[in-house]
Amino acid sequence: MSHYSRPVRIDLHTHSRVSDGTDAPADVIRAAKAAGLDVVALTDHDTAAGWAEAATAAEQAGIELVRGMEISTLHEGRGVHLLGYLPDPAYPPLAEELDRVLDGRAQRLPGIVERLRGLGIDITVADVLAVSPDAAASGRPHVADALVRLGVVADRDEAFERYLSTGRPGYLNRYAAPLVGAIELVRAAGGVSVIAHVWGRSRRQRPDEAELAALKAAGLAGIEVDHQDHSPQTRDALRAIARNLGLVVTGASDYHGAGKKGHELGVNTTDPGQYERLISLAAAAAEQSGRATPEVVR
Ligand code: AMP
Ligand code: ZN
Ligand code: FE
Ligand code: FE
Repeated sequence: MSHYSRPVRIDLHTHSRVSDGTDAPADVIRAAKAAGLDVVALTDHDTAAGWAEAATAAEQAGIELVRGMEISTLHEGRGVHLLGYLPDPAYPPLAEELDRVLDGRAQRLPGIVERLRGLGIDITVADVLAVSPDAAASGRPHVADALVRLGVVADRDEAFERYLSTGRPGYLNRYAAPLVGAIELVRAAGGVSVIAHVWGRSRRQRPDEAELAALKAAGLAGIEVDHQDHSPQTRDALRAIARNLGLVVTGASDYHGAGKKGHELGVNTTDPGQYERLISLAAAAAEQSGRATPEVVR
């Protein structure tokens, strides 16, 4: 590495107000530039709605942009977040699946509100929509924001702990895309997929190495290893699995603006060699799909 050039800094997982982040897409991009990043991916939940604004901002700011999304999937009864990079979002089977997830989230909202009202909390669907005007669908983080605004809880974390996490009284399930199907959809749309925070939060070391091998055979390109939900030991174990299976290793902030503490832009980054592998796999998938996929904005 040159003595004169600083290392290239790459953050492949961020959210804007189009899902449950708190910054507009253009502000995520400007904040990424200000944080000293060279490459940023915008990966809102289940939507490409922020891409156009982000691409314009990236060109203006002079930062490389990877257009992505984080798809809510289900595998072996567990929720798995799948990062899809550079797929054609207009590929009908992918667009339809994303709509199913967004519809499921939107249709669940009145039920969550009803449960909270049953607990004596004076919250309405309109309160939730009012705090999420730019969101493709209002989800649990927006319910949390409404609860904060109503003075019921101090922050999103408290809202999840008391009311919204699995098993809490305001929790309601919703549709999620089957994981293997989602991997295949992303690939057929000319993109590549990476499992986000593979062993993060409450998932106990699943999917394991055997499951990840099967997922790679189904088309999975990589796993997000360097994430705030992973301890140093977890990162080491996942890095070893990725090496064994030939999976790309990524690292990212999972930035949500003010919506998630400890997830500042660039807090974790992706090795430039791994990024190059991911981008060449995306180029191969794009070629194979024959679809008009988004280019990396350089
Ligand atoms: P939903 O898809 O509407 O059920 O909302 C799930 C989203 O809520 C996840 O993708 C996270 O981004 C967010 N989330 C989950 N747990 C928490 C938490 N404890 N604090 C803040 N956000 C959370
Ligand atoms: Zn989120
Ligand atoms: Fe996630
Ligand atoms: Fe995320």
